[in-house]
Amino acid sequence: MTHEPINQWNNFLEKIRARFEDTLVYAKETVLSSLEKNQYDYYGSFRTLKAIQQQIYTDVIQKVSDTWQNQVEPLLRSTTVNWAAELKKAHNVSEEMNRQLALWVYITEGQLSLKYYDYAIQLINGDFNCSQCNSPLSVKKDFFNAQYIVCSYCQAVNTFEPETKYVTIGWNVVDNIAALYALNEYKLMLKAQSGDDYTNAQRKYYERYFEERVKLMPHTAASKTKDIELAIKKQSN
Ligand SMILES: [Zn+2]
Repeated sequence: MTHEPINQWNNFLEKIRARFEDTLVYAKETVLSSLEKNQYDYYGSFRTLKAIQQQIYTDVIQKVSDTWQNQVEPLLRSTTVNWAAELKKAHNVSEEMNRQLALWVYITEGQLSLKYYDYAIQLINGDFNCSQCNSPLSVKKDFFNAQYIVCSYCQAVNTFEPETKYVTIGWNVVDNIAALYALNEYKLMLKAQSGDDYTNAQRKYYERYFEERVKLMPHTAASKTKDIELAIKKQSN
């Protein structure tokens, strides 16, 4: 007699896991395709990502504890079923989904940034000429900020003001791409529980992360060592 609610509960947990997996796939497509829909408004797509993350949490993950509290637990209370074991199932499933959702955000942020980068990096592909003598100027392609360029013909100093969508690359976009490239190190850091294992994994993660960041922004090479120490200190606090 007591088996029926347990079967239903197990079925529910299985179904919600499957729904969660499907949702993550669909949600990633929604986030990535939002860039075309909003004319590559990076922060607009970023807000979409955050809203979807919140929605998945409320509509899927929280449903486990709601269902337990409102339906399963009241049913089991009057039986001889080991309800603590059933409650533990709810905890485990929720915890696993929370862990997966956090990783999904990490990866999706990276993929969104990569897609944005491929678009925005082309925005300075045009020719830029000296305002005084009209000779072609060489603009640094991976310096996502205003540049002062001395003309090699007439020595005039030109100010190159890149457009905002291009400058945005130098902010969160490169950070998230570097993080995506350091995904393996990130997973190892998550796995390392504590002590020296964690400290080593953490250092390896930040070394890889800043190494990738330097590839995207060569002028940050000078501060790489300092940046690694600062990031570790910041995360340890
Ligand atoms: Zn010139």
